[in-house]
Amino acid sequence: MAPEFRTEETPPYGEVEQVSPLVRRVVANNPSRFTYHGSGTFIIGPATGGDVAIIDPGPADDDHVAALLRAVEGQRVTHLLITHTHPDHSPAAAAVKEATGAVTHGFGPHPAEAIRAHDERVRRAIEAGDEPESEDGEGSGDRDFVPDVVTTDGDVITGVGFTFEALHTPGHISNHLCFALREEATLFTGDHVMGWSTSVVPAPDGDLNDYLENLERLLDRPETTYRPTHGPAITDPIPYVTALIEHRRMRERQIVDSLADGPRSITSIVEELYADIDPKLHKAAGASVYAHLLALSRSGRVESLAAGDESDWKADWSLA
Ligand SMILES: [Zn+2]
Repeated sequence: MAPEFRTEETPPYGEVEQVSPLVRRVVANNPSRFTYHGSGTFIIGPATGGDVAIIDPGPADDDHVAALLRAVEGQRVTHLLITHTHPDHSPAAAAVKEATGAVTHGFGPHPAEAIRAHDERVRRAIEAGDEPESEDGEGSGDRDFVPDVVTTDGDVITGVGFTFEALHTPGHISNHLCFALREEATLFTGDHVMGWSTSVVPAPDGDLNDYLENLERLLDRPETTYRPTHGPAITDPIPYVTALIEHRRMRERQIVDSLADGPRSITSIVEELYADIDPKLHKAAGASVYAHLLALSRSGRVESLAAGDESDWKADWSLA
C-alpha cells in the first residue's frame, strides 16, 4: 500500500492558529519543495499568560520571529525545543532566545559528516561548472546552533503545564529528535514523519537503516496525533507509518533485484526503476537510490566497486 499523503490549504503566514487546547502554530513564509507551505512553529502552553515552550522556531526570517514574539506576548518562554539543524528548523532559535531568555534543547550541533558531504558536493558542482545547491535546502545546515541543554533519547523536559519526552530519531539527519507531549498524546515529528510527503534521507549522514528502525519504534508508541514541522497533523499515525515503512522496503527489494544480473551504476538503476517519472527528477531519485545502496552496504548486503569511495555516483554496485 502506498502512503496516502495529506494536504492542507496555504496557512495564513505569521498568524497564530490554535490547533488543540495546548498547542498553537505559526507558519513561516518559506514554502519550497522541502518545506511544503513553510515551517510550522509550535507554541505549547496556555493561549494567554503562563509559561510556554516553542518547538522549531524556524528559519532566520525577521517577519517570522516577530510573529512568534507577538504570539507569546505577556507569556514566559521557558523552552526552545529543536528537532534538528536544517535551515528551516533551528536558525530562528538565536533571535527568539535573545528576546525571551529561553533555554534551547537539541541533540547537538549540525553533524560533521553532513557538513563534509555538503562542502564536497558544492566543490564538485563548481568544478563541473554546475550550479551548486542552495544554502537553504536539506543538503545544507545551520552551522551556528549549539544547544544549551544536550537532549537525548528518553530525556524528559518538564515545564509548567507541559511535559515532553525526547525521542532520538536519526535517519533524516543524525541529530533528529521528536518530542512527545504527554498531556495531549501528541508527537512532534519534525521531518521524521510528515503527512504531505516522504522524508528525504540525505546520505551519508542521513541513514535509511536508522530511519526505518525509528519508524518501526513509533508503532509501539501511545501517541495518537503527530504534528510535523511541515504540513497538517496526522491523526491516524499507525497505518500511515506502516505504509511509509512498506514503501521503503518495496524500493529496497527492487534495488536488490536490479543487481541480480550483475553490477550496475546508480544511473542505470534509476533509469529502470523510475522509468515513468520526469527525467528532471532523476537526480533526486539517484540520491534516494544512493541512500538505499549505502544502507544495504552498511548491513553487508551490497557493495560499491569504487574502492572505498562510496560517494562516487559513477561507480558500479553489486550484491555482496
Ligand atoms: Zn530537515
